[in-house]
Amino acid sequence: MEVAAYLSDKAASVTVIGSSKFPFQSSLVIPLLLKMLEEKNVTFYTSNGVAEIRGKNGKVKEVVLKNGEVLPADIVIVGIGMYNKFDIAVTAFISHRFMKTNIPDVFAAGDVASFPLPLVGHKRVNIGHWQLVQAHGRISGLSMLNQQVAINTVPYFWTMLLGKSIRYTGYGEGYTDIVFKGSTEERKFLAFYIKDEEVAAAASLNFDPAAARLVEMLLMGKRITKAQAQ
Ligand SMILES: Cc1cc2nc3c(=O)[nH]c(=O)nc-3n(C[C@H](O)[C@H](O)[C@H](O)COP(=O)(O)OP(=O)(O)OC[C@H]3O[C@@H](n4cnc5c(N)ncnc54)[C@H](O)[C@@H]3O)c2cc1C
Repeated sequence: MEVAAYLSDKAASVTVIGSSKFPFQSSLVIPLLLKMLEEKNVTFYTSNGVAEIRGKNGKVKEVVLKNGEVLPADIVIVGIGMYNKFDIAVTAFISHRFMKTNIPDVFAAGDVASFPLPLVGHKRVNIGHWQLVQAHGRISGLSMLNQQVAINTVPYFWTMLLGKSIRYTGYGEGYTDIVFKGSTEERKFLAFYIKDEEVAAAASLNFDPAAARLVEMLLMGKRITKAQAQ
């Protein structure tokens, strides 16, 4: 999405192809993000995929989608993620609040690591955010120095799209309701994801310092009820 946004005023046309129903599927900011990019002539092919990339003389010419459609293309940027082929390393990355693995003197940090998130009763999670990577690194480093400091952090993510900074904090998986303030048309909103009648996460645009404030509260063990959010 960030690449599409960046290229939207540089390429003649930009097309995003994805296998999920929407990009950033677990996030409520989807309609806004799609609208922002569609206004910049970015086209989306969701619940789809690439069956084939065809080229001529070593240059890409077209992309064949899984549904058979053929899109002309000069450049293809592939963001397909990765998985770790090293079975030993993967099984080693067990949950541990000091970011230790089950192999002595091997510590885990970053996207590759799962860890017990205090916010959700120490459920083991794997979340790819810069802020978490840094938190992991700090705890791993202390662990290496035999300083047992348990990880206590609240996930916080921000990204820039078309000059707008979107913030997301908490752990919204399994949310059942949304309390929404502001307006997507005005590009200014704060949205609370509700789970078990409490705020589990929030997303915001142009609504500072709401997301940062929520981080502070969650970190201190405070909770906001749905009624309070409303
Ligand atoms: C397109 C994109 C946009 C993103 N946007 C945001 C954002 O807006 N906000 C946010 O919070 N997070 C964002 N993220 C996530 C964030 O970048 C990651 O969470 C973070 O970079 C993970 O850090 P890491 O150190 O765990 O892994 P990485 O940064 O992936 O570092 C792993 C390093 O290990 C190297 N490596 C891999 N295998 C080997 C090997 N066998 N030998 C030696 N080296 C190896 C890799 O080359 C790489 O340099 C984004 C990620 C992507 C891909």
